[in-house]
Amino acid sequence: MQGELQPAINRFKFGGFEIANIMDSKVIRDQLHPGIGGDQPVSAVEDLARANRIDGKRFQHPFIPTLVNTGRELVLFDTGNGALRDEYEQLRGRMPAGQLVRHMEQAGYNAGDVDVIVITHGHPDHIGGLTRGGKPVFPNARYVFGAAEFDFWKRGANVREARKFNRELFVKICPPLADRATFIKPGDEVAPGIHAVDAAGHSPGMMAYHIESEGMRLLIWADTCTHYVMSIQRPQWPVEVDDDKAMAAATRKRILDMVATDKLFVAGFHMPFPGVGYVETSPAGHRWVPVSYQLNV
Ligand SMILES: [Zn+2]
Repeated sequence: MQGELQPAINRFKFGGFEIANIMDSKVIRDQLHPGIGGDQPVSAVEDLARANRIDGKRFQHPFIPTLVNTGRELVLFDTGNGALRDEYEQLRGRMPAGQLVRHMEQAGYNAGDVDVIVITHGHPDHIGGLTRGGKPVFPNARYVFGAAEFDFWKRGANVREARKFNRELFVKICPPLADRATFIKPGDEVAPGIHAVDAAGHSPGMMAYHIESEGMRLLIWADTCTHYVMSIQRPQWPVEVDDDKAMAAATRKRILDMVATDKLFVAGFHMPFPGVGYVETSPAGHRWVPVSYQLNV
C-alpha cells in the first residue's frame, strides 16, 4: 500500500494565455446537510447525493486557486489557506495547511514571480495565503480587491455572528497590503482580457472574473457554487457559508444561466480537481461537466 495519490496541478493553453489550476489543499467533511439545503429534509439532500453517486454523509471540499499567465503578467486568483491552521487557534483542525506555494514550485513558479494577486472575496480560504507571520508571501505582487468587498470587511458593520472571526482575520491580513492594492468594481479590467463580474451574495462584494483570449472565454466564478452537485443542480437551496443567502441564490442562477448560455469554461475554487469544467443545461436543470481534453488539443 502506498496511499492515495492525486494530481495537484493542471495547466493548459487558453488562447494566448496559459492557465494553471493549482490545488492548495482539500478537507473531508461530514454531512452535506444542513450546510447545504438546510431548509430541506435531510432525505432530499441525501437522495440527490445518491443519485449522483456520492455520499451525503462525507464530502470532499477542495481549495483550488487559479494562476493566469497573460504573457505579460502572472496573475494569481486567491491564495488558499496558507498558514491559517498554524497561526489561528480557531481554525486549527478545521483548515488544512495550504500547499499552494509548494505546488506552484513543482509547476515551475516561485512566489516572487507573481505580478498580480486578485482576491475574489475576503473569506479565510481565499486570503489566508497572502501573508505568513505577518509578511507578504508573494513579495513582488500588487493586489486587486473588489472595492465593495474590501470596504465591507474593513468597516465591519453588519458582519454576521458566524463571520466575526473572519472579520478579525481580514483586518489582520488585508488592510496592511492596501498601499500596494487597487480597488475595483464590476466591469473593471484587471489586465487586458481579464474583467470583473458582479457575483455578490456568497460574500457582500464577491466578484467573478471573465478571462478572454483569442476568442476563448472562461469564468473564474470563485465561490458562486461551493459544491459541484448541490449548488449547481439545486441553486435555490440555501448554503450556510453564504453571507446573504437570497442574494447568493439569485447570483448562482444568473451566473449558471450565463455560463451555460454563453458556453463558457468555468474555473471553480471548490469544484473537484482540476476545478475546470462547464455547465450543461437540460429541462431537468443545470449540471457540472468536468473538463476532459477540450483544453489539451
Ligand atoms: Zn471558499
